[in-house]
Amino acid sequence: MSALPLFPVTTVGSWPRPPQVQGALRQFRRGRMDRAELDRVLDAAVIDLLRLQADLGCDIVTDGELRRDNFYSFVADRLAGVRLMTLAEMIDVVEDKAGFERLLQTLDVPAYSISSPICTGRVARRDALAADDLRFVRRHADGPVKVTLPGPYLLTRAMFVPELTRACYPTKEALAEDVVALLRSELADLATEGADFVQFDEPVLTEVAFSPGRTRTFMCAALAARKDPAEELELAVSLMNRVVDGTQGMRIGVHVCRGNWSRDETTLLTGSYQPLAPYLERLDVRQLVLEYATERAGDLMGFGDKELGMGVVNPRTDVVESVAAIRAAVEDALRFYAPDRIFLNPDCGFGTFSNRPMNTADIAAAKVSAMASAARELRG
Ligand SMILES: [Zn+2]
Repeated sequence: MSALPLFPVTTVGSWPRPPQVQGALRQFRRGRMDRAELDRVLDAAVIDLLRLQADLGCDIVTDGELRRDNFYSFVADRLAGVRLMTLAEMIDVVEDKAGFERLLQTLDVPAYSISSPICTGRVARRDALAADDLRFVRRHADGPVKVTLPGPYLLTRAMFVPELTRACYPTKEALAEDVVALLRSELADLATEGADFVQFDEPVLTEVAFSPGRTRTFMCAALAARKDPAEELELAVSLMNRVVDGTQGMRIGVHVCRGNWSRDETTLLTGSYQPLAPYLERLDVRQLVLEYATERAGDLMGFGDKELGMGVVNPRTDVVESVAAIRAAVEDALRFYAPDRIFLNPDCGFGTFSNRPMNTADIAAAKVSAMASAARELRG
């Protein structure tokens, strides 16, 4: 990666889709727009967003996940053996229908609006997950680029629905083998295309640690994998370490949050990273991208010699954090991290879902701008 300044500013991935992108995605889904026209709209929007991030002072840019329906369901378009299903469709197939209905009620998520990628056959890469998108970004961005991908544990948990998956994979561990293989291929392609930073999203880890036996998020279609949380977290660590084993030249990060699907903070999980620390420390990745702007994340702590991608603004609020507050939070983090090991980012994405962004583009831009101002002061 080209040299970064101290306290590099970046985002966690998603950006609110501009109206023309939302409109084009809708038209495409209804068969009223062809792929080429959709790509023209998306290409133009990504170019605009890259320019905006540079203007706002982002040191590492992303494509805002503008081409994705959400941060993990997009894989259905690009993998064989995976089908996109709405949560409403899934009620028809899961055995514990009452449990699934209860889950949807507690979540503040409309069952028809969220889709999940479900494994219904042998999983294999049909198209690149992100390498083609990266090639486009590389052509239009001068500086370092971050690429986001769903982590191997999230993908496995999301895609494994026993009623639909068992014909091909008897257990989720068996499915995980193919997930690891496809993510390794993707990482190799991202290295070839010149990715500077690859961030794997593993938001489900907090759920495993905080509410064992009770699946609380829509991301895990398979209800209540009633296993020992320690065993599940060990599996998550081993899958990630196998995915990144032997990777060179790229900064690899893992993002762990407590959910980012609702502005109603009471539906999101609460608890510090403490129970996850023994696992996060053993991930063979350079950076942990963590939320700290929300009080639900608890006290700041160190994780061995890891870098911290520090969440300093809340992506779900209208109030823009002050430069002074961001600066004070980072100065506090210097108790645990050397200055060259702290990156500044929001707690999570501003977009998450193409049809249900967590914020407006204007507020997202104001928050990124505040982070950039704080970083400039800190460098001084
Ligand atoms: Zn997140």
